[in-house]
Amino acid sequence: MKRVVILGGGTGGAIVANQMVRQLHQEVDAGEVELTVISNVEQHVYQPSFLYVAFDLAIPADAKRPERQVLDRRIHLVEGEADRVDPGQHQVIMSDGMELPYDFLVIATGSRPVPEDIEGLVEGGHHFYTEEGALKLRDALQSFKGGRVVLVVGVPHKCPVAPLEFILMLHEWLDGRGLSSATHIVYTYPIGRLHSLQGVAEWVGPVFEARGIECRTFFNPEIIDPVARTVTSLEGETLSYDLLVGVPPHLGHDVIARSGLGDSGNWVPTDRHSLLMQGRDDVYVLGDATNLPISKAGSTAHFQADIVAANIVNRLRGGYGSLRYDGKVFCFIETGLNEATYVTFDYERPPAPVASGSLLHLYKLAFNRMYWLSTAGIL
Ligand SMILES: Cc1cc2nc3c(=O)[nH]c(=O)nc-3n(C[C@H](O)[C@H](O)[C@H](O)COP(=O)(O)OP(=O)(O)OC[C@H]3O[C@@H](n4cnc5c(N)ncnc54)[C@H](O)[C@@H]3O)c2cc1C
Repeated sequence: MKRVVILGGGTGGAIVANQMVRQLHQEVDAGEVELTVISNVEQHVYQPSFLYVAFDLAIPADAKRPERQVLDRRIHLVEGEADRVDPGQHQVIMSDGMELPYDFLVIATGSRPVPEDIEGLVEGGHHFYTEEGALKLRDALQSFKGGRVVLVVGVPHKCPVAPLEFILMLHEWLDGRGLSSATHIVYTYPIGRLHSLQGVAEWVGPVFEARGIECRTFFNPEIIDPVARTVTSLEGETLSYDLLVGVPPHLGHDVIARSGLGDSGNWVPTDRHSLLMQGRDDVYVLGDATNLPISKAGSTAHFQADIVAANIVNRLRGGYGSLRYDGKVFCFIETGLNEATYVTFDYERPPAPVASGSLLHLYKLAFNRMYWLSTAGIL
């Protein structure tokens, strides 16, 4: 029997597992192939919903389903923390000592926000990158009466467009509450332009200007003083705030460090086309967990899962698994509460946002609901 183990049951892990079981149902039913997902959470969470939770446009329960229900019943689910991967022995060792041997392993452990890495952010600021953070920000926004809102951005972080979406949604949300004239919004960004993606940076400049949003570049948040209500950057600039929102820097998960597989950020060195872990022929990596210099986004994980699933299936059937990932990413960008645009790009084609509109916002809302079809491997 051939064993495929998928470490992590989030967006990429669930899609790759469900796609494989659909393609391999005969082999799985005949007991020739076993698919196992390891998940350290009982509930699968659709993380983009946190942005809507912050504005009280969704509640956390809307975006959760039991992991068991998300996975096809023929997939073996191991609930618990993977302690480490031993590529030499071709096995994953669980924290309770259970050993899970594999013929192919897919690492899909994602990334985790680390707000503690910016001094004072936990005490003095808010974020919307976890359920808890989004709920606290929701409460802070509900009692906000106007003042200076400053957004700071730590790197790297998942969903590269989320800071822009937050600012543009906030602008319209404040307007709806009659707080626009009493509020000044300051958007900061760590590099010398308004976004890491050049095309997005060029597009958003005029969009922010039209809304009177102040922008500061080369601003890497270093210290937040919750008492003085100031944020000081590595570059030496200090901004005062009444409400601070920080996009936390992210790291790869600890299992990567414990296994000795990652770089200093716990990202796994990955071939940009084959998605094989560098130096291994039987370990694939996808989603946020890779060290690839591309957007850490659910769509990235999805497009990569298509390639990884097809290549593993092909190799299990005697082929070479030659499909290549081309760097494709697709992101909707909310440009307010009722309008959106999108960008799509890959290794060769840069992003160029189209004109925003209400129809694209409706597509985005529809996708938020159809997410469960994509995790099921249907979309
Ligand atoms: C506020 C917000 C808005 C976003 N908006 C968008 C958007 O509009 N569009 C978009 O494409 N993306 C968006 N994203 C990003 C998207 O959610 C992630 O990029 C995506 O979930 C990555 O998928 P993944 O499979 O790599 O990781 P995840 O979905 O995070 O899954 C990783 C899983 O592995 C588990 N795991 C980790 N370590 C272990 C271990 N040791 N043992 C067992 N299990 C383990 C984790 O608990 C988790 O369940 C957003 C994210 C946030 C937070």
